[in-house]
Amino acid sequence: MDPSNQPASSPSVTVGAAAIGARAGTGAKPAKPLRNPCNLCQSVRAILKRPKTGQQLCKECFFHVFETEIHNTIVDNKLFKRGDRIAIGASGGKDSTVLAYVMKLLNDRYDYGLDLVLLSIDEGITGYRDDSLETVKRNRDQYQIPLLIVSYKDLYGWSMDDIVKEIGRKNNCTFCGVFRRQALDRGAIMLNVDHIVTGHNADDIAETVLMNILRGDLPRLQRCTSIITNDTSEDSSGIETSKILRSKPFKYTYEKEIVMYAYFKKLDYFSTECIYSPNAYRGHARIFLKDLEAVRRTTIVDIIHSGEALSASVQANESTKLPTMSTCTRCGYISSNELCKACLLLEGLNKGLPQLGIGHTTKIRRMHEQANLALGLSSPASLSGGSTPVGDGASDVEVKVVTHIKDLGRLKNMPTLDSVC
Ligand code: SF4
Ligand code: ZN
Repeated sequence: MDPSNQPASSPSVTVGAAAIGARAGTGAKPAKPLRNPCNLCQSVRAILKRPKTGQQLCKECFFHVFETEIHNTIVDNKLFKRGDRIAIGASGGKDSTVLAYVMKLLNDRYDYGLDLVLLSIDEGITGYRDDSLETVKRNRDQYQIPLLIVSYKDLYGWSMDDIVKEIGRKNNCTFCGVFRRQALDRGAIMLNVDHIVTGHNADDIAETVLMNILRGDLPRLQRCTSIITNDTSEDSSGIETSKILRSKPFKYTYEKEIVMYAYFKKLDYFSTECIYSPNAYRGHARIFLKDLEAVRRTTIVDIIHSGEALSASVQANESTKLPTMSTCTRCGYISSNELCKACLLLEGLNKGLPQLGIGHTTKIRRMHEQANLALGLSSPASLSGGSTPVGDGASDVEVKVVTHIKDLGRLKNMPTLDSVC
């Protein structure tokens, strides 16, 4: 363990009654016994019950334990080092708004020495993202953190509104998720940052663990439980990872507590759901998880720990080794195939065959070959784009998009799939 990886002057802090007593400076007993006193400071009436622990707390003690647990997660996992420039993935929703607020607060309180910036992706969803980006702009001003907004339209030539018009509401989240993770990396390069923090919370991660177990998707199970990712590979189902670090400081933070924190702090966030949601499968996992949580409050953390244990055994298993990665022949992104997932999806869109990019890579390859035949193209490579020079057989839109992506610079790697938005 390299101590230089730890934020300077930032020891892990104990969260408990003694710490709270010391913080509040309350040694004396209240004159009259309080009805329903805070379990930590005992001097103020409790106004909430922590979903994670069942403790009854006053507002100030809740703020203290919430912030301290996140600080401990950051320090214990050595997420940052002094001088790091960190992009906070900001959507205007509760998770990323609380993340921006808490990152700034902890950076100041514990002197992490981080240079923080906000990075937002504009998927081009009228009536949703345009409004939520207004919230992010207000957060930029409230927290005094610079902001960069990167749009799908600029990067890919397609907004999500365009894509949904083309393909309908089925699979739209697949396009959106693939494009988002690449867009975040592009934005990170523009901002000259090498680390992105996202607001994925414990509930999101537990849902993803469940989904990956239900699908038997071991490579994704392995990644979804990591608090920080930066490895370099792509598996046969299209997982792509990046040299740009991704971390989740809210890995052990319950969604309900994030909502409580935002509410009691009166933070300015956007709470409307995407008009193209829900992601049906995740929705089922979420409902199942909430039912389990109602029976046992530790369910969320228990599932994350189970995912971590399974992930460790997956790592130890030789047969689940990931294939060698190289780069996409079209845009330069990390890919174990000739084309990265984003380029496959774009190709399908631009050719009016959106199904080309959906599903398992081997199936996609088969569809490409069939599409080649249907379009009268002799060589599968010409449709997969690997050996076709841009501008030779490619549509105008495709040429524009590919040129634009190439202009944005070549990435070595890509991040873990993130289907939570
Ligand atoms: Fe994109 Fe999320 Fe909307 Fe799906 S629900 S279209 S992933 S923003
Ligand atoms: Zn590509």
